[in-house]
Amino acid sequence: MDIKSTLKKGEAILRAVNNKSASNDARVLLSHVLNCSQTFLISHYDYQLSKDEEAKFAEFIELRAKGVPLQYITGKQEFMSLHFKVNPHVLIPRQETEILVETIIDYVRNRRSTLKNSKSILNKKNTLNILDIGTGSGCIAISLAYYIQNCFIIATDISKDALETARLNASLNGVDGKIDFVVSDLFENIGSKKFDIIVSNPPYIAKKDLERLDSEVKDYEPATALDGGEDGLDFYRAIIPKAPFYLKEGGILAFEIGYNQARDVVCLMEKFFSDIRIIKDLDKNDRVVIGGISSERI
Ligand code: GLN
Repeated sequence: MDIKSTLKKGEAILRAVNNKSASNDARVLLSHVLNCSQTFLISHYDYQLSKDEEAKFAEFIELRAKGVPLQYITGKQEFMSLHFKVNPHVLIPRQETEILVETIIDYVRNRRSTLKNSKSILNKKNTLNILDIGTGSGCIAISLAYYIQNCFIIATDISKDALETARLNASLNGVDGKIDFVVSDLFENIGSKKFDIIVSNPPYIAKKDLERLDSEVKDYEPATALDGGEDGLDFYRAIIPKAPFYLKEGGILAFEIGYNQARDVVCLMEKFFSDIRIIKDLDKNDRVVIGGISSERI
């Protein structure tokens, strides 16, 4: 069968199960099977697939029709223009999370340019120490390591399998020398180290909302990466009061939050942090909360 008819067939199967992005998904899966770009597909409609290619495509379409997320089938997701391997042990990196990473990169750049000649911890000559709690695929830690000069990151996760994936991603993106991966339940295995920045995109879905998530998320993504307890705030409650002990003077704490959690998270942070800011994502939802442990530094 040629590319045109193969795509048409795949699309029809996906449409029959009410997949809203049937044509996109069929293209993504076929370009994955043929290891080519989507442009190649449309410009080579009469290319004849081998039997193996046809079988592989049929298998992938079947998985997609069952609701398996596209990224778990192809095993990859782009984030901050970098390539990440993903599997069901890790949450698929989300576009919203780029806001958290960009906020930190901007913060570091601004501080480094205004503090060029000072002895500040953010002076470019000093290594910036960052802790990423619950790194999952490693997307946050790896992007920070990639885009921030002279930094060293400790990335933790409670899941060994997730850390294995994150380690692989770090080496694929050439930043394995800038990150230490540590199995840890929050701060448990961090010892007495202190950081300039603590960042986390913790699980933040409230219990009552877990059931209402899309079945693609609920049935395939790791529950431990989503479940934030009764009201979704368990991890913020656990991290915030401890964070000051792991931050250097002038250090900052930055979180991704659920769209309706800004008020609660700010409230929790106010006791320990100052100059707290809320940053919205591209859909205008509150998405990031950031605060410093001493007011003149942020
Ligand atoms: N830090 C990872 C991410 O942002 C994992 C987050 C999580 O598992 N809650 O994708």
